Amino acid sequence: MNKTKVSAVMCESYDLPLLEEKIRAAVELAGGWPEKMKPGAKVLLKPNLLSAKTPDQCVTTHPEFVRAVIRELRRKGVEKITIADSPAGVYPWEELWEKTGMKKVADEEKVELLPIENFERVEIPGYGHIPVLKELKSFDVFISLPKLKTHILTKITVAVKNSYGLVVGESKSAFHAVAPSPRKMANFIATVFGKIKPDFVIVDAVESMQGDGPANGRPFKSGIIMAGFDSVAVDSCACTAYGYKPQDIQLLVKVSELGHGTMQKENIDLVGDAAEKLGRLKIPRSKSDILHRFPERMFHLLTLLLTYRPFIVQENCIKCGKCFKACSQKAIFSEGGSFRVNSKGCILCMCCLEACPVKAVELRSPFQKFMALMKFFKK
Ligand code: SF4
Ligand code: SF4
Repeated sequence: MNKTKVSAVMCESYDLPLLEEKIRAAVELAGGWPEKMKPGAKVLLKPNLLSAKTPDQCVTTHPEFVRAVIRELRRKGVEKITIADSPAGVYPWEELWEKTGMKKVADEEKVELLPIENFERVEIPGYGHIPVLKELKSFDVFISLPKLKTHILTKITVAVKNSYGLVVGESKSAFHAVAPSPRKMANFIATVFGKIKPDFVIVDAVESMQGDGPANGRPFKSGIIMAGFDSVAVDSCACTAYGYKPQDIQLLVKVSELGHGTMQKENIDLVGDAAEKLGRLKIPRSKSDILHRFPERMFHLLTLLLTYRPFIVQENCIKCGKCFKACSQKAIFSEGGSFRVNSKGCILCMCCLEACPVKAVELRSPFQKFMALMKFFKK
């Protein structure tokens, strides 16, 4: 049986000529661009644009990384290139494109920006019909450009999770009610992935996210670019950067079980000068990681008793109301002009953390909340 190739090459910065050279190397090592990538092809690029954050915050795929991919596609003679994504909630698109640096790249490189608003309903067995980017079928090639990050619910977010961005953002928070636990959510995303698999993946791990991703972590200079045809194999290699084995990640277990890719080490050929480095990076995980070690049915009890809930830090809040709009459970309410979380209604979907533009929503344990209140009374 032929092994699935995944490449990992060193790339220490977002310097454009270096990125172009290293992306070219990563693509070649992984087996070259998909055959469908011909000069007349219509190509969809899907970076991770989780929310309107600037590139230095490491929440989104770096704009220079996207630019370098576009330049490489131009070298192949590809003209029709579109960038699309759909953050959770109702999003002001101009703000998203502007802050993430995508507008500048799109204007300068003359590519299209496509807000995911038009949709068609795709049947997802066991979950009904899910609204997915309507124009998806009109593209010849779909290239996923994820960022390597931690994720409070799924432990990591790389290629498999990145495809989920093709589901209309406005509907996403409601799906947390359909799948109200990390395991159920992972199973749901794995099933959706079967309908929106990319043709090729190139991972921006030049700077990765450590800590409480996908929105509130901090940058970690990992200095790597990864590539491959099989998203599951790419993620299985990428998770080792956090010291995980693929079988520790429910999303990978499920997506592999469903036959959408391979996570078995013996079926993957990891090549490139960063192949050894990946497993040695030891990028710090989310502090919620410990929760995943307990049985599923204890999850909510544990989160209530000893661990973290979303908490709005009033001093940092700019009262924009984005968290309020993003919460499908109406667990965020407005009181005297301030926004607060009602823990009872919260299903820990983390949409409010993702939606907040200024990191005013934090995960805190009851103990931390108590200490924060004490600080307030001391003032
Ligand atoms: S408060 Fe935040 S984490 Fe809780 S349900 Fe609402 S959006 Fe989700
Ligand atoms: S917590 Fe964040 S998203 Fe919510 S109102 Fe404050 S600044 Fe806006």
